[in-house]
Amino acid sequence: MSKEHDPGFETICMHLADDREAHFGAAAPPIYQNSTFTFPDSASFHARQDSESTRYDYTRTSNPTTRILERKIATLEKAEDCRAFGSGMGAITAAVLSCVSAGDHIVTIDTVYGPTRKLFSELLPRYGIETTFVRGTSIEQFEEAIRPNTRLLFVESPSSIFFDLQDLPAVATLARDRKIVTICDNSNATPVFQNPIAMGIDLVVHTATKYIGGHSDVVAGLVVGDRERIESIGRVESQLLGATCDPFAAWLMLRGIRTLPIRMERHRRSGLEVARFLATDMRVARTFYPGLDLHPQHGLAKRQMRGQSGLFSFELRQNTQAATFAVVDALRYFSIGVSWGGYESLAVPLLAVDPASRKDVWVIRLSVGLETVEDLKADLYQALNRIE
Ligand SMILES: *Cc1c(COP(=O)(O)O)cnc(C)c1O
Repeated sequence: MSKEHDPGFETICMHLADDREAHFGAAAPPIYQNSTFTFPDSASFHARQDSESTRYDYTRTSNPTTRILERKIATLEKAEDCRAFGSGMGAITAAVLSCVSAGDHIVTIDTVYGPTRKLFSELLPRYGIETTFVRGTSIEQFEEAIRPNTRLLFVESPSSIFFDLQDLPAVATLARDRKIVTICDNSNATPVFQNPIAMGIDLVVHTATKYIGGHSDVVAGLVVGDRERIESIGRVESQLLGATCDPFAAWLMLRGIRTLPIRMERHRRSGLEVARFLATDMRVARTFYPGLDLHPQHGLAKRQMRGQSGLFSFELRQNTQAATFAVVDALRYFSIGVSWGGYESLAVPLLAVDPASRKDVWVIRLSVGLETVEDLKADLYQALNRIE
């Protein structure tokens, strides 16, 4: 093998940063479940914050188990560095606060994840930071919303509930020319299907609670970007806001990452099959899944993504609460619950503002899990048979 050959995605998941010899050859790394690290003498204690120092000192700052996770994710996202957090919202809040000060302005999308929306619409105004929400399906919408004091474009592609896409290279170019920072929530696509940083986006944020953890047993978040930005977020927002990733949570994510590529391939295949099945059912009005040929943004999806996850929504022709609840309540394999991205299938009935019509519509959001896909299709079919 030539020296220039970069390891593939799966190989990075299995091997990168797993220094087994440093841990008695253990195939799975140990969990460094300690708050503090001790030093042999005063001189090394005082040298611990030198730029060359590789010593750990305190787990709110960094931890060896967490560091393995951060190095793997940085490489998978084609970035220089990564910082792990105690939740996706911890990661998003730290990343956003690293970009703005009082008097600044943010542009984001209408369909951004609900709590992220609340950060922009309720918390940041208290500190003198204003946000404009745009649909985000054309670059002109961002351009028109930009003001002289705009410091951040925050995107989420595909977005929550309606799975709108934003043209990431166009967003990156628009922002870079105006010295505006860009952040993309890449939780839905994961680094398996999309790398926003390779398209010019400055920072990527993830809730690792979803696909990266993958087993519905951990809450965690990640921020990925260049060395300088991540170092600064680590020193300031992460240290001071303190949304630290617990080493056990980091270890569970490392376990999740070993199967991330094969899980995502199955979520992709089953999601596509279920979406195609729903799109042809007479009782379904719309299927919000960018992987379908008839989706208005299918071309953009093919340009900037390598596939779609198992997360999407659909809307019944009979758009009432009663019909929507009847279908969801009749499901046997899809449990009712928030979150997504785990091994198990989930469904949630949601009343949400359709970004196209600006009207409230009932949708059913599915997280297609790893069960036998025929069972999932049969389950949806028998549930749809409850209505006209
Ligand atoms: C769940 C979610 C988050 C927040 O992650 P937590 O780990 O729950 O804090 C952020 N973005 C998206 C798109 C999500 O679905």
